[in-house]
Amino acid sequence: MGGRRLASGRRGFVIALCIALPVLLGSLAPGCGGRQSPALEITGPTMGTYYAVKVPRPPEGLDAETLKTGVEGVLQAVNAEISTYDPESELSRLNANPSTDWIPVSANLLGVLAEGVRISALSGGAFDITVGPLVNLWGFGPEVRADAVPSPEAIQSALARVGYGKIELRPTPPAVRKARGDLYIDLSALGEGHGADRMAAYLESLGLGDYMVAVAGTIRVRGLNAQGRPWGIAVEEPSADRRAVQRVLPLGEGAVSTSGDYRNFFEQGGRRFSHHIDPRTGESVAHRLASATVMLACGRDPAMTADGLATALVVLGEEKGPALAESLGLAAYFIVREGEGLRELTTPAFDHGL
Ligand code: FAD
Repeated sequence: MGGRRLASGRRGFVIALCIALPVLLGSLAPGCGGRQSPALEITGPTMGTYYAVKVPRPPEGLDAETLKTGVEGVLQAVNAEISTYDPESELSRLNANPSTDWIPVSANLLGVLAEGVRISALSGGAFDITVGPLVNLWGFGPEVRADAVPSPEAIQSALARVGYGKIELRPTPPAVRKARGDLYIDLSALGEGHGADRMAAYLESLGLGDYMVAVAGTIRVRGLNAQGRPWGIAVEEPSADRRAVQRVLPLGEGAVSTSGDYRNFFEQGGRRFSHHIDPRTGESVAHRLASATVMLACGRDPAMTADGLATALVVLGEEKGPALAESLGLAAYFIVREGEGLRELTTPAFDHGL
């Protein structure tokens, strides 16, 4: 059995962003115009990974400390709402609640659940926010477990608790009804994007028009970087052993998210078992699609949507993933393993540019 990589598949992505590509992503150099305040760049831990924020042209009076306090307050609120790693979060309390009656929830939690159900349906159940019991069984959730393939009996038993059709959502007043009291909702595939969207909303509430925010490999940008050019987003080469950039994507405004199988996995019997679980079979997905990247120019919460769709495409694999992306008109970019090499696939919307 091989050692498990604990790093999220997206942690390396942000390291590439912050260290390998500072020029593409905006440097700390002040912009033109003499009196411009120096660019602000902050980073810190969140959600078991990292966040990063760049503000190339901050208004007078906004300093790094104030920005960090505000951004971390936003991320703490997100964690308190949707983390399964915090037993006191609103989502953990919902998961622990055995009631099958309507359970009141916050509007924020309901919004993430609704997007999760929408993507679950779009993907035909390849993505499923009720996949939690399987994720935990395979050892990729908050519970510490040995890295080992679960028994078929344990998989069957967890599968009985899975199915996004087993939850109902009510917008007013916001509430959730579970068909089984032991449903366990896992929003990890949307959470980084939701965090990025919430940070973006906070920056916009400060009147900022140029920024880059990221939680690991889910990034949202607006405006121009410190050089006055569109932001450049690096997609990492899908390798567990080295960090290298596969491609740089220019992004004027919107979100980009990459989901990959190459950092969070364990090995047993010479096979790699990834943290992506197929909710229809209960198995860890096994195919040649190493990563999927989704770019969205618009939408209410584009980072959350891109985050969830990228995971859905990875679970679907190298044939059905690109097919779904194309049918939805998505700008998507795939990296497929072929022998010792890698093959890139793109959708027409990606080739056309955002
Ligand atoms: P993605 O592809 O975006 O998501 C993969 C994850 O989605 C899997 O790990 C699993 O949880 C889930 N998943 C698997 N298969 C499916 C499927 N078919 N459909 C839907 N979902 C699926 N991690 C820690 O180690 N410590 C923490 O304290 C911690 N806190 C967190 C707090 C919050 C609010 C959130 C949202 C996540 C937290 N995490 C924590 C998880 C961590 O952020 C991981 O990054 C995340 O689980 C996986 O994200 P990813 O980008 O690697 O992969």
